Amino acid sequence: MTYIHDTIVKLQKTSPAQAEFYQAVEEILDSLQPILETNEKYKKHAIIERMVEPERQIMFRVPWVDDQGNVQVNKGYRIEFNSALGPYKGGLRFHPSVNASIIKFLGFEQIFKNALTGLPIGGGKGGANFDPKGKSDGEIMRFCQSFINELYRHIGPTCDVPAGDIGVGAREIGYMFGQYKRLTGNYDGVFTGKSLLWGGSLVRKEATGYGCVYFAQYMLEDQNQSLAGKTCLVSGAGNVAIYTIEKLYELGALPITCSDSSGTLYHETGINLATLKELKEVRKVRLEEYLQHHPDARYIPVSDYPADGHAVWRFPAELAFPCATQNELTEQDAQTLVANGVIAVSEGANMPSTQDAVEVFLNAKICYGPGKAANAGGVATSQLEMAQNASMQTWSFAEVDEKLKVIMKNIYRNARDTAAEFGEPHNLVLGANIAGFRKVADAMIEQGVV
Ligand code: GLU
Repeated sequence: MTYIHDTIVKLQKTSPAQAEFYQAVEEILDSLQPILETNEKYKKHAIIERMVEPERQIMFRVPWVDDQGNVQVNKGYRIEFNSALGPYKGGLRFHPSVNASIIKFLGFEQIFKNALTGLPIGGGKGGANFDPKGKSDGEIMRFCQSFINELYRHIGPTCDVPAGDIGVGAREIGYMFGQYKRLTGNYDGVFTGKSLLWGGSLVRKEATGYGCVYFAQYMLEDQNQSLAGKTCLVSGAGNVAIYTIEKLYELGALPITCSDSSGTLYHETGINLATLKELKEVRKVRLEEYLQHHPDARYIPVSDYPADGHAVWRFPAELAFPCATQNELTEQDAQTLVANGVIAVSEGANMPSTQDAVEVFLNAKICYGPGKAANAGGVATSQLEMAQNASMQTWSFAEVDEKLKVIMKNIYRNARDTAAEFGEPHNLVLGANIAGFRKVADAMIEQGVV
């Protein structure tokens, strides 16, 4: 345990005030204990010390002019964390909470997630503390263009390929790609999550949500259970939550909640997917408006949430899909879920459960699919988009969806079998972390001290 402590203490000195990053590192190191103890080579090659230090971090000013003619300034980031397995790959997040710690934890998680997909992609992440909420289309475009005026020199189809994340969807990717093309003169596959009109891949939009549900399905199958007829709690109301809900319905389950930054929606007969899409994908308004269409639903504003957690996890259900953001599920939430008889949790978001909440799930021995395994379908399908762009092909929806299913099954089996190999068969956190780590670490050793 001392090396975990020593590593964190060192990080606190060299990279101060990055709580979320320490949390992600601690979780990984905790799982790696058994493999580090039995393998001198990782210590000899200073793998941990190298892995926690990004290969490169870019921080830059993003100035732009709002609709009133005022100059606004945001902070932009791109962390190129690890390229042992391929070009840096990972999304861009535009959200007011973005800071160096958030981007670094996301980039660190991305290394292991991308390794787990089995595809040749390294780990990176970026974004800005820009709040897209309430911004006009013109403001979004000008912000994206300014962001790329700096970032364009660092990215490329074989070195760093950004995509979307919270606050960045096909519209933003379009504006960023347009500016990249103007500056470089290259029509490159430099972003994923592009529009289907000009190089995007079918299923990319749906992939994170679909993949998260496939992951739950594979966990349940191993327990001789299925999704059919199960009540499900979903948090979030963005891209991941929407397509989690869509796939849950397709596979016969009943999603009864979703949430956004202002509150939680509970609809006993099932969330109406068409209304949800209309509110969030087309009109981009608050969830509360759902009540105007479905007065039998219930809405709990954030001000009425329990002090020790999130309203969404307090409803009884058999399955839970945290699809909003980091640390949205507390220890008390986890205890409530377990007490209410939850049998599986599959994470569509990145690090949505606090460390204490994860402990509760592991101790209860329920099926728990950590984000870096369960939500890897998004980035995996991004790599399928890169493959189509590079080979100048387009694959059908069914073809990509089939590949996604195979990838999710392999991720699940890899995490499960690695967990069993290290004597903790139910612990997919341990399994996913060791399986991802082993691949990256061995590649780093083979590539020398770089
Ligand atoms: N932002 C997504 C993630 O957290 C997708 C990244 C990508 O497609 O590159 O994995």
